[in-house]
Amino acid sequence: MTSSNTQRGLTVWFTGLSGAGKTTLSQALERRLAAGGYPVESLDGDVVRQRLSKGLGFSKADRDENIRRIGFVAELLTRHGVVVLVSAISPYREIRDEVRRQIGRFVEVYVNAPLEICEQRDQKGLYKRARAGELRGFTGIDDPYEPPLNPEVECHTDLETVERSAAKVWRVVQATLGR
Ligand code: ADP
Repeated sequence: MTSSNTQRGLTVWFTGLSGAGKTTLSQALERRLAAGGYPVESLDGDVVRQRLSKGLGFSKADRDENIRRIGFVAELLTRHGVVVLVSAISPYREIRDEVRRQIGRFVEVYVNAPLEICEQRDQKGLYKRARAGELRGFTGIDDPYEPPLNPEVECHTDLETVERSAAKVWRVVQATLGR
């Protein structure tokens, strides 16, 4: 591990609908970063909600609080030279921009797949439950998703392979780390 690898941290923030591919891409990036000797840490939305944000719900206030907590941890780690991979729906633009300002070294990745595709994938069966009315306030169904206006990277995961999307993110991450 060279010192230049470890000197400056970075937060890579994956945002998008449930099933868009945030976790998949974050894991692909984690493998590349670890292989390159970078200190890397992942903050996955599902895991965070079981631990750091346990007890929070899905109102706008609770979603914002969830993102603030993730942003707080990501900033600490980034400041200490870690490459932090955040994968969380993070549907609200304003709070994403707030954590971006707070963290500074920040790459926003818009993991973009149309709702129909995410719903077809339905990895966790959540869309089915939301359509059945068992889940209220589900992003994309009866809760808003505000796409980033100027993301550093946009991956169209309905059109690209995982490898292609991961390569796009990797290129920008490498360029940013080298700066
Ligand atoms: P999220 O974390 O956003 O809820 P997941 O990563 O759990 O989404 O699921 C995304 C699904 O989409 C996976 O089954 C993955 O293999 C598939 N997929 C297809 N193409 C891509 C791509 N280009 N990038 C990421 N995921 C993709």
